[in-house]
Amino acid sequence: MYDILYHMNTVKIYQLNSLSHTHYQRLRAAQQEAALVWNRCMELHQDARLQHEPWPQRDALQKATKGCFALHSQSIQMVTHTFLANIDTTRQLRKTHPQMKMRYPYKEKQFYPVSWPAQAVCKESGRVLLPMGRGRDALVLPLNLPENSRSVTLVWNHGYELHVSVEVPQADHPPGEVNATVDLGEIHLASVTTNTSQALIVTGRGIRSLKRQRTKALRTITKKQSRCTKHSRRWKKLQHAKNQQARRAERRIRDQRHQATRKVINFCIEQHVGTLFIGNPHGVRNQNNGRHHNQRMSLWEYGRDIDYLTHKSKQAHIECFTGSERGTSSQCPVCGHKHKPKNRQWTCKACGFSGHRDLVGSINMHKLTFSEQVNFPRSFTYLRAGIARKSSRRADTPQCRLSESGLQPHVADVVSSETGYRSDDAEKPASL
Ligand SMILES: [Zn+2]
Repeated sequence: MYDILYHMNTVKIYQLNSLSHTHYQRLRAAQQEAALVWNRCMELHQDARLQHEPWPQRDALQKATKGCFALHSQSIQMVTHTFLANIDTTRQLRKTHPQMKMRYPYKEKQFYPVSWPAQAVCKESGRVLLPMGRGRDALVLPLNLPENSRSVTLVWNHGYELHVSVEVPQADHPPGEVNATVDLGEIHLASVTTNTSQALIVTGRGIRSLKRQRTKALRTITKKQSRCTKHSRRWKKLQHAKNQQARRAERRIRDQRHQATRKVINFCIEQHVGTLFIGNPHGVRNQNNGRHHNQRMSLWEYGRDIDYLTHKSKQAHIECFTGSERGTSSQCPVCGHKHKPKNRQWTCKACGFSGHRDLVGSINMHKLTFSEQVNFPRSFTYLRAGIARKSSRRADTPQCRLSESGLQPHVADVVSSETGYRSDDAEKPASL
């Protein structure tokens, strides 16, 4: 018998800071070229669709784009593949969810991420060579990629980043057979309970304050920007500052989110969890709760929490699924009496039961999904994401200065590759 080693892919993000002007322009040109490939595919597809001819498939698109663009041949192919995948998804969505009125690609893109498959990337000690096609110089980036790295993608996200897909080992058996449920929240990022009555609460207050800080910082700059002529030198400087602020905030929020979800999964491994249910709070955001609360709610990215948890549990070989959590937080886990809680503590008006509000939601999910009654945990562990810092005032000052000097790769974090949560603005550089 052989030991089968399981592997899965995650993405490592390398910031490309302090690029020289020519370097920057080359990356920009590459993304513009990739956008041209996309636009060509779109035109071909649109023509075929409007004339009721068979839609161009893989071979036709590859033939039509081959050798016409200043990119490596496999980078061009990767654009056509994503285009076809996009068409496929749209067609399925139009069938299954006609109310969404999904449109086939129709917008001309100006920029598009450029990808290189694993075999095209040339790793040397201390630098990476990304080929740009025959007769053109390769892009050279001073990064030290790990041994197990695979394909790479050049992405704009308020600045250039290189997203490197990395192979990581996966646990070959589940940690146990315990069932667990997660209740996602805005103040308490995750509340986990197991059917052995163990509980964990990870707070999300850090993320909330980072978001508020970001909003305030961006507002200050926008105010200054509104007083100068658009595209003037000062305006550009302020725009740059804005990008930097947004980037920094995003990086730190992402880091905290990873740490928080990591804590949840570590707890699950410790408690021998084999199956994990994540309650999807979809629907909570649609209520109107007033200006301040609405803003907080719209900034609550529970989709990412679900993504990260799913990805991390896959790595730990824990079976993971999601479902609606409707009504779980407003029911008494002891007598079933229903009422809406007002603050963090849940007190039953009928039987006098009292417990932490988020744990109540999590406990009730056991009944809903595994149909088993679980005793309310006597105590719970309370964790915050990240390391506790001594001074709260200094805690919000940028701590990434060191890694930002020079082109030293700053490994921002690991994000899920399959879930692909990347937002649209990752595709295009802001027009400066
Ligand atoms: Zn009760």
